[in-house]
Amino acid sequence: MKLTFWGVRGSIPTPGKTTVRYGGNTPCIELRLGDDRLIILDAGTGIRNFGDFLINNGESVKAHLFITHPHWDHIQGFPFFKPAFISGNELTIVGTERQEKQLDKIISEQMNRIYFPVQLHELKAKIHFQPIREEGSMTIGDTVVKFIYVNHPGFTVGYRIEHNGKVLVYISDNEPFDRSAAEVLTNFESVVIKKFSASEGDPNQRVFDFCRDADVLIHDATYTPEEYIDRVGWGHSHYLFTMRVASVANVKRLYLFHHDPTHIDKKIDEIVKKCKKEIKSRGYKFECDAAVENTTVMI
Ligand SMILES: [Zn+2]
Repeated sequence: MKLTFWGVRGSIPTPGKTTVRYGGNTPCIELRLGDDRLIILDAGTGIRNFGDFLINNGESVKAHLFITHPHWDHIQGFPFFKPAFISGNELTIVGTERQEKQLDKIISEQMNRIYFPVQLHELKAKIHFQPIREEGSMTIGDTVVKFIYVNHPGFTVGYRIEHNGKVLVYISDNEPFDRSAAEVLTNFESVVIKKFSASEGDPNQRVFDFCRDADVLIHDATYTPEEYIDRVGWGHSHYLFTMRVASVANVKRLYLFHHDPTHIDKKIDEIVKKCKKEIKSRGYKFECDAAVENTTVMI
């Protein structure tokens, strides 16, 4: 598998000279499978550059687009994904939906005329929707994609992609689950809270198990541990928890992801340095880096 980061920033795009090295676009990842199949993970603003890249390459597009959840930073680039405007292209959008709002509505309503000049039904590419209503898995050719609810407001999933003996896990937004905090937080889905609460021992064990033996784990590391104290319930991890996931799950390589919009390049450098120090002192075995926009990783 060949993976390219097109957007690694969380919450809101952060253009400017202080974020130019790690990048300012919100989440989007290109994944090329050995058989040349294309998977796209999330449609943050990074998907715009990716779309332009595909057009410049003259590529016709037949892809699966997996959305972790429909918060703005994960869907806001979609209306600017040029291949969706070209007839002959084909996109299957996979993501969670709610009883009161189905996946096609969740995606199309951000293109309502009040917010955007072109509506979804006017796009020329063929667009299919494949809603996720429960945890499970699906296959695309010989690739298996598994999904699990993670701890983030709304129905948010992580994806585990298994192809040709290699495993990539993508968990863009996830907060360490704490039983006592869960009792007072009201912005999380009760169905998801029940799933976490059900496991004996550490309620995060289900996430550790989902990441088990991954070659690459891309995981939320929005905050420092100090910042997290004031942001419990916002749905994100601090880097010590992120590293714990990688360690307990026996992951080979970890990419810190969903960088906080206030974290300028120098700050992310510092975080990576601190992480490497922790890895050494705790005897962790995995490699660790921060995800960088416009870089490619072979898995
Ligand atoms: Zn996000």
